[in-house]
Amino acid sequence: MTNRRNLNSVSESHKTFTGDQSDMVTRLNLPDSLWAATANAPPATKQLTGDTSVDVAIVGAGFNGLRAAICLAEAGKTVAVVDAGDVGWGASGRNGGQVNPIGHEPPAAVARRWEGKHDSVYARQYPKFVIDSADELFDVVRRYNIQCDAEQNGWIRAIHGDSALADFELMYDGWAAAGADIKMIDRAELEALSGSPSYQAGWVAPRGGSVQPLSYVRGLATAAIAAGANIYTHTRVNDLTPRGDQWVLRTAKAAITADQVLLSTNGYTDDLCRGLKETVVPIISIQAATAPLTPEQDSKILPGRHTFADTRRVIFYFKKTADNRLVFGSAGFSGDQPGEPDKRRIILGLSKVYPFLTDIQLDYIWGGRIAVTQDHLPHIHQPAPGLWTGLGCNGRGVAMSTVMGRLLAELALGKDARDLPLPVTGLKPFPFHRFHRLGAKVALHWKELQDNREASV
Ligand SMILES: Cc1cc2nc3c(=O)[nH]c(=O)nc-3n(C[C@H](O)[C@H](O)[C@H](O)COP(=O)(O)OP(=O)(O)OC[C@H]3O[C@@H](n4cnc5c(N)ncnc54)[C@H](O)[C@@H]3O)c2cc1C
Repeated sequence: MTNRRNLNSVSESHKTFTGDQSDMVTRLNLPDSLWAATANAPPATKQLTGDTSVDVAIVGAGFNGLRAAICLAEAGKTVAVVDAGDVGWGASGRNGGQVNPIGHEPPAAVARRWEGKHDSVYARQYPKFVIDSADELFDVVRRYNIQCDAEQNGWIRAIHGDSALADFELMYDGWAAAGADIKMIDRAELEALSGSPSYQAGWVAPRGGSVQPLSYVRGLATAAIAAGANIYTHTRVNDLTPRGDQWVLRTAKAAITADQVLLSTNGYTDDLCRGLKETVVPIISIQAATAPLTPEQDSKILPGRHTFADTRRVIFYFKKTADNRLVFGSAGFSGDQPGEPDKRRIILGLSKVYPFLTDIQLDYIWGGRIAVTQDHLPHIHQPAPGLWTGLGCNGRGVAMSTVMGRLLAELALGKDARDLPLPVTGLKPFPFHRFHRLGAKVALHWKELQDNREASV
């Protein structure tokens, strides 16, 4: 792989037509990312071409769908996983690979949100689900011997300005009281651990860490196949209808009949299930990979190989890769494909965090969709008998979707919903959902303005 690449020559290679245009199948290839360039090879998969019948059909071959497939196949069920693209084509093959085991709100705030609406058992079970999520992911990696540069070196969260301090302290106190392994660090320790002089304080959560996400999701696919599941790629499900006690999923060339269906489509949810798409807003997140750091930069930046995220409303998050690049992320302003403004924002962000980095070279830049919910909590729904979905990990889905997949599998296997850490809720649409693109754009600009006003640098 060459280190220096001309990003202007990168085409929209993620979307091309297949040779077989008789049924106008749009082929969804992975974006041109560092992950795609360095991941382990995927297991062999094929399109679905003939009708089939299974116990459970899963739409979406990301962390969520594939973890569910492993659990179900190991429990003796026949399983078909179907994805419109490759394994990991969605957010699972594009994300920052940060395994962050703390939620967006303190557990007490979540309990208040649910008070009077859901049984109190959920508020008691929720914190452990979040806190243990990183350990569960690393256990999965070890159990299936997935080669994905997994490192559990800890996650740093840093305060970008005074205005974030009160919320940060509430979060710290709330999660520490709920049993999270988490330690406050002052400016000096933060600078020593991150190499950034730009933050005033933060925390370290030692159970956090990172993976090469495309290698991880491909490893899950290999484990699912080994357990007996079939995975069909480049196979979009166009229609989902009940037939008696069963479900029929129709694709361009064939149909699957299933007793139960899991929708593991997260930020790429379409119209298969009426009203589901409107429960989340897909927000674009951008990732960019620098050229490999020089030995001097490498020794200063994240010397303990922690992952890092800050408290900005339009977050900056980054980590070092196996080949010592920085992968830096933030929100995207240009839609699914990063544009020039996104590239400029990433370079500006990097230079704010690491003022000593000059002449920053980005070798790769790509984007993907995060599913944001109204209450910033993940949701489990059962829109109809035999149909389950779990989505809305709000940018924390590397660990959480891994756990969510297991929860959906357990529900399909008959687990009592009261044993879950999340209530099974009805579909609640975002108001004015059809204007979400415009709304997100305006909100991002407004939030960035506030961040810039408040930031220490
Ligand atoms: C750029 C970016 C950075 C991120 N960084 C982090 C991070 O550092 N840490 C973290 O915890 N989280 C992060 N996230 C979030 C995390 O990646 C997601 O929460 C997680 O990958 C979701 O997994 P999933 O399996 O639920 O969905 P996905 O991986 O998005 O999979 C959904 C799949 O459904 C398929 N699909 C949809 N409709 C159909 C249909 N009709 N027929 C067939 N297939 C269909 C799609 O093709 C897609 O592959 C990031 C997300 C992005 C986009």
